[in-house]
Amino acid sequence: MSDVFDVYAIRNDFPILSEKVGDKQLVYFDNGATAQKPQIVLDAITAYYSKYNANIHRGVHHLSQVATQAYEDARALIASCLGVSNSNEILFTKGTTDSINLVAFSFGELLKEGDEIIISAMEHHSNIVPWQMLCERKGCVLRVIPMFESGELDIEAYREMLSERTKLVAVTHISNALGTINPVKKMIDWAHSVGAKVLIDAAQSVQHMSVDVKDMDCDFLALSGHKVFGPTGVGILYGKEELLNQMPPYQGGGDMIATVTFEKTTYNTLPHKFEAGTPHIAGGICLGKAFEYIKTLDMGAIQKYESELLEYATGRLLEIEGMRIYGEAKNKTSVISFLIEGTHPYDVGTLLDKMGIAVRTGHHCTQPIMDFYKIPGTIRASFAFYNTKEEVDSMINALNRAVGMLK
Ligand SMILES: *Cc1c(COP(=O)(O)O)cnc(C)c1O
Repeated sequence: MSDVFDVYAIRNDFPILSEKVGDKQLVYFDNGATAQKPQIVLDAITAYYSKYNANIHRGVHHLSQVATQAYEDARALIASCLGVSNSNEILFTKGTTDSINLVAFSFGELLKEGDEIIISAMEHHSNIVPWQMLCERKGCVLRVIPMFESGELDIEAYREMLSERTKLVAVTHISNALGTINPVKKMIDWAHSVGAKVLIDAAQSVQHMSVDVKDMDCDFLALSGHKVFGPTGVGILYGKEELLNQMPPYQGGGDMIATVTFEKTTYNTLPHKFEAGTPHIAGGICLGKAFEYIKTLDMGAIQKYESELLEYATGRLLEIEGMRIYGEAKNKTSVISFLIEGTHPYDVGTLLDKMGIAVRTGHHCTQPIMDFYKIPGTIRASFAFYNTKEEVDSMINALNRAVGMLK
């Protein structure tokens, strides 16, 4: 394994990793669903509520100013970690789903009948349903980039689909079900060449690699705090300032901003225009802490470590008879979806849980992918940088026992 990256030191930052499930040591392989939190984030939650809890942006008193400063500092830090110099382009939302719905509603208001939106065959439900709702509302047309058996997108088919009718392309950077890393930079370039805007679903990105939004040149980017070692209930939408300025407010719309106070303090100014109501203040501040934590890590070393872990786990899984892995993209992150012939994924998942191993079973909010492979669901082991080869061995032993019981 990698010698530059000390996984055992890193594990000490995450108290939950030493928890037990019954009398078994927890092995947490459900990072694709949500990641665990480092001590620095846990401490920040307590510090906020015990030292400076106050509503932000509208108080003259000391605590409110401290909270406002911390919240806005978090925004600026997150902006800089994502390669964004203008923090007005960073909006706090509830998460990826909320960020995408914001764009589907608000950017959607600028679209008209016959305009086309392109998504891909491997999208999470939260990057499918909001666009279907928009198409219903506005008479737009939804088109889907097909996928190969390997779990890679048919990029040439995508190129053919693009035309002056294309107004938005919304694709995932990394598939949560298959691990595929899509060639988003090229896809963004091609979309821009026909004048289309691009939204990147980055819910699975920042935890596995460094993401430079300006280099990518996407128009929107969505992510969830809880998947990048921060709290639930908070996320980010990056949007180009020029676009955000053209877009109408999302929540409450005109009705909610008709009050004088509200108009004066928030309407027409970014980022507040899209942040109606009291936000998840502790969440925003602690998401900043999560980014601060990630910033201390060597993402290059982590990527190398995770790909070694992926390769090791893939090899060990393939030793099991009847193993089939779904998602064999050349460019893949540390997510493995699999099925074992003659067993049901739910039964396997339940038995693994009894042995302390947390994996996810089911469709992973990507039913179209399951339909594509004609399967009801998979077992998914998704790794973070704090997972180890020994934990993979524990899963393999548990799988062998489970298969013995089920077959
Ligand atoms: C988790 C996930 C989402 C949805 O994120 P929420 O935190 O549930 O809003 C969207 N897309 C991908 C690729 C995901 O992994």
